[in-house]
Amino acid sequence: MVDCCSAPGLLPFEQALEKMLSVVKPIFDAEQVSLNHALGRILAQEVQSPVYVPPNDYSAMDGYAFSHKSLTLDQPLKLVGRSMAGAPFLGECKLGECVRIMTGAKVPADCDTVEMQENCKVEEDYITFLSARKFADNVRKKGEDIAKNHTVFSAGRELTAIDIGVLASLGINEISVYRKLKVALISTGNELKKPGQSLNDGDIYESNSQFLTAMLIKFGVEIVDFGIIEDVEMSINNAFEKADKSADVVISSGGVSVGDADYTKSVLENLGEIAFWKIAMKPGKPFAFGTLPNSYFFGLPGNPVSALVTAHQLVLPALLKMQSVIYKKPLMLTAKTTTTLKKSPGRMDFQRGILTNTDNGELQVTSTGSQGSGILTSMAAANCYIVLAAEQGKINQGEWVNVQMFDKYLQ
Ligand code: AMP
Ligand code: MG
Repeated sequence: MVDCCSAPGLLPFEQALEKMLSVVKPIFDAEQVSLNHALGRILAQEVQSPVYVPPNDYSAMDGYAFSHKSLTLDQPLKLVGRSMAGAPFLGECKLGECVRIMTGAKVPADCDTVEMQENCKVEEDYITFLSARKFADNVRKKGEDIAKNHTVFSAGRELTAIDIGVLASLGINEISVYRKLKVALISTGNELKKPGQSLNDGDIYESNSQFLTAMLIKFGVEIVDFGIIEDVEMSINNAFEKADKSADVVISSGGVSVGDADYTKSVLENLGEIAFWKIAMKPGKPFAFGTLPNSYFFGLPGNPVSALVTAHQLVLPALLKMQSVIYKKPLMLTAKTTTTLKKSPGRMDFQRGILTNTDNGELQVTSTGSQGSGILTSMAAANCYIVLAAEQGKINQGEWVNVQMFDKYLQ
């Protein structure tokens, strides 16, 4: 049996990823952005709360606030004032007294407990409780969400919509984030035409730079688009040189195999250094990673599915590392395959599947069908990868397989 390591010259996927993550170094330049530009950006600072959240004790109910000790008097409480949200009661509320209070209003200094109005009998200015309240009931305590000076977020966190709400709750309106990476995109191929142009005999539409751009916009990078470059060694050399000067990362697609018009590898050898260029994965065997004088270089295969899967599985983790995000292995689920899955031992497979629940709640996965590396619709129909280990052979219907859900970058 052929295993991944005996496939000549092919680096196992995990080793390729590990190697890349060890070579790639973070860029620590930071900038201040306002909260409404912070979504998806990577925190360059630790965030400590400058305040207590909530800043005071607040009522969680519409009702009456009082000191719990007043209950020992066993008599109706006298109403002495009102506390509204944004308009606190400023007077004194002594034992035996209470204050009308609304949800979100500050609990008066002399009070510690709130009774909801549904449990109160009101007679003129006197309130009787219909059931006994525990101390501090219905009070949102000062700092119960976040204590002052508490570390809320660490540097390297990718800010989510929820995080932005948390930052706002601390009163923070500007935050330090790492600057966006500059990524240069180059598509190589004489046969490529931009969408919207007409095709000559033998041409195809260029799609790789389009989905890469979309994916990278989600990631939050600045894209420098070098367009389509002809399969001429000098032209590719010039494009790589210019791209290297203008970006932190250069991503090309196509021309990375061993055909007569494949110059990526030789140009990379000439201008920089190749770390590796063949991976034991499917799709995506020809994938070059290396360094140029000023940037990191990723040479994606031309076939759209191969380009997409390698960009997603390998390039994005490297870009995250450059933004100081700690690599987390993708979450794997196990599901029963509803069909037989073709596979020969040798390379790690990222087949495309549709993950669903069976009627009894189990996870099942169905292949999207033909898995050719040019069939981009096999990716569009899918919601997950079926991840099959390199040494794995054919898989029968009903066997359990690992699946990895598509994440936000593919949606
Ligand atoms: P290559 O790696 O250059 O040999 O290309 C492999 C296959 O992918 C060929 O069929 C190319 O036409 C196709 N291809 C290369 N680049 C692109 C691109 N940017 N968009 C769509 N298809 C491409
Ligand atoms: Mg080509």
